[in-house]
Amino acid sequence: MGPSSQTNTIDFDAAKLKRLGFSNQHTRPLHRTNLAQLRQQLALQLQTSLDTERVLSLFFAAVQRLVPLDALSYQQPISDLRLELGERASHSAAYRLSHDGEYLGELVFRRKLRFSDEELAQLESLLASLLFPLRNALLYRAAIQDALRDPLTGTGNRIAMDQTLAREVELARRNLLPLSLLMLDLDHFKQVNDKHGHGVGDEVLKAVATTLKSQLRNVDMVFRYGGEEFLVLLSGTPREAAGMIGERLRHAVLELQCLDQGRPIELSISLGCATLLPGEAADSLLRRADSALYVAKRDGRNRLTMAG
Ligand code: GH3
Ligand code: MG
Ligand code: MG
Repeated sequence: MGPSSQTNTIDFDAAKLKRLGFSNQHTRPLHRTNLAQLRQQLALQLQTSLDTERVLSLFFAAVQRLVPLDALSYQQPISDLRLELGERASHSAAYRLSHDGEYLGELVFRRKLRFSDEELAQLESLLASLLFPLRNALLYRAAIQDALRDPLTGTGNRIAMDQTLAREVELARRNLLPLSLLMLDLDHFKQVNDKHGHGVGDEVLKAVATTLKSQLRNVDMVFRYGGEEFLVLLSGTPREAAGMIGERLRHAVLELQCLDQGRPIELSISLGCATLLPGEAADSLLRRADSALYVAKRDGRNRLTMAG
């Protein structure tokens, strides 16, 4: 007889998970427990999510069964994360979380009543259960962000652009709000590379991306569309306003002082601007912006053309 193998399917539906102790504490009335039990439950519960907000909400709800709290706030400036759960109160206990030299953020428990020494000791013990789930959630968040970002310019990449554009078109349609798009391309960029070298070219691309972001309210809406081509999504922005923003971007790039060993680098951009039409699909909007950009190039560059 050869080795035998068997495959079993287990469907962990909500009821089964609840029986196994993975239940969501928000939905049940709070009842008190002891530290050891709570740590065990936390270990099970916190591993059910890789979402930082979810992990912290689960933690906040569970901790209350031992130490009543009014609020929990968390911030991690490196990841640009800030979270406030519950209602602010005057007494607080703050913890700077780190593991093996890795900074994991700042956590503050707040309450109207002062914390006793015993409660503080319990909170600290419970924080140990949060450590690895929180670190995993932060790593996951960073990985997702990296996967959506262009490494050279820090703008969104094509994947991010496709996702965001689809979402914004859908939102604009549902809420009957205007949505405009600027497609822009650096003029004669091949010459910049030829004259100053590819390394300087890369620095110029970074500087242009920084300028674009500094001119816009929502920096998450700038995407690197191709080599020296960017796309700016302007949600809630009608045609005329989008044209004005495009002109502002054109001037900002024109005024950008880029130097190569003291020598100024001549820079300009051409732009195409298109505004979503009723019932229009994302790819059609992109195509119209691209055609408008083409016209701007053909008509002499360093200009903005509105799509027809
Ligand atoms: P036009 O005004 O018609 O846009 O002229 P152009 O020279 O900018 O256009 P073309 O498409 O001929 O050339 C684009 C250049 O951009 C060629 C390519 O080497 C350069 N480029 C694309 N991506 C990068 C990059 O990541 N770094 C650098 N340094 N150059 C890049
Ligand atoms: Mg170009
Ligand atoms: Mg190009």
